[in-house]
Amino acid sequence: MAALHLARLIAVAADTIAAHAEELTALDQAIGDGDHGLNMKRGFEAVRAEADAFAAKPLPDALKAIGTKLVMTVGGASGPLFGTLFMALGKEIAADPDRKNLAAAFGKAVEAVAARGKSQIGQKTMLDVLQPVHDALAGDKTAAEIADIADAAAEATVPMKALRGRASFLGERSIGHMDAGARSTALLVRSVGQAIGESA
Ligand code: ADP
Ligand code: MG
Repeated sequence: MAALHLARLIAVAADTIAAHAEELTALDQAIGDGDHGLNMKRGFEAVRAEADAFAAKPLPDALKAIGTKLVMTVGGASGPLFGTLFMALGKEIAADPDRKNLAAAFGKAVEAVAARGKSQIGQKTMLDVLQPVHDALAGDKTAAEIADIADAAAEATVPMKALRGRASFLGERSIGHMDAGARSTALLVRSVGQAIGESA
């Protein structure tokens, strides 16, 4: 696998979240409380502020530290969930991961998010993107294909009825809107693919 330039990856992810913060806010306004864009922007700017320190660490430690930072700064329901994703990924990943290790570690991280959120696929959450991304990663899809799979998976949350998170309070009225966390997850997946592609 191409060498992972973590500082560059953080910059691309933070730029992407910043560029889409209003869109994420609008999605969360429709079926939540409208803070998801701000939550994510605050978290990823906090990670960006310490990007060099994270990048100086071995990859597993860097991911664990990023996860801890996200828990402390994103807030809401999504902060602990994204934090769990990165912390679990850091726990499972090798210092110089190949595709197989990355896929296996990502699988464990997705399981950790599901356990933390007491959620499963089909409930209109970030898991509806994380799980198909893991499946694609475990296969032989390219980074660009995986980014498209993530976008399609976020889009597929539109007709779902929310069964977890704030949107679930709306019941049937949550149908017809994309889940904000699914969208932010898809944005992050595309950022990672883009950053890895650039360093290939
Ligand atoms: P809050 O809902 O506290 O305002 P955010 O708006 O930042 O937090 O994040 C909402 C997103 O978090 C949702 O769109 C959904 O994707 C995700 N989410 C919420 N609860 C869960 C859960 N139990 N399992 C998985 N994802 C969840
Ligand atoms: Mg919210």
